[in-house]
Amino acid sequence: MEKQQTKRIFVMQDRCNGCRICELRCSFYHNQVYSPTLSRIYVVKSELEGLTEPKTCVICGKCIDACPEKAISKSTTTGAISINGEICTGYMACVEVCPFEVMRFDHTKGVAFTCDLCDGDPQCVKYCPEEALFYMTPKEFSDFKKKEQQTKSTGEQKKPDVIPQE
Ligand code: SF4
Repeated sequence: MEKQQTKRIFVMQDRCNGCRICELRCSFYHNQVYSPTLSRIYVVKSELEGLTEPKTCVICGKCIDACPEKAISKSTTTGAISINGEICTGYMACVEVCPFEVMRFDHTKGVAFTCDLCDGDPQCVKYCPEEALFYMTPKEFSDFKKKEQQTKSTGEQKKPDVIPQE
C-alpha cells in the first residue's frame, strides 16, 4: 500500500511580492500581535537581485534528531514539527542544525518554536494575496506545477505570431 504523504507548505518564489502579510498573519494567529520576529515564516529579500523568498519549515526532521532532551516530535494529526515547551531546556541545538533557519527561539519564554501548520489551516497560505504559498502533499504540489507549466506553454502557443497592425 502506498504510504500517505504529509502536507506541508510549498513556495512558488516567483509569485511572492515581498509584502510580508504571511509573517504578520502568522504572528497574529500564534501570539495575537503583528510581529515579524514572532513569525514562523520569514521572507528573505535580496535588494541587489530584486528577489524575495519566503522560508518556512519543510519538516526535514533534523531538529528532532538534534534535540538532546527529545522535546521535538512530529504531530500525530498534521505531521508538523511539535515542540514540547515543558521539556525544552533552551539548549538551541535545533536552532543551530536547522538548514533553513526556520527553527526560532523565544528568548522571553526560553523555548524554541517553528511552524506548526496552524493545526492544519496555515494562515500564511490562507492570506497570501499572491497565492505564492501552498499547503499540499509533495505529490499534489508536483501535479499542480506540471499543470501550471502545461497551461503556460499552451498559452504561449496560442499567442499570435504577428501583432495585427491598427
Ligand atoms: S504573503 Fe505571499 S506574497 Fe506576501 S511575502 Fe508572504 S509569500 Fe510573499
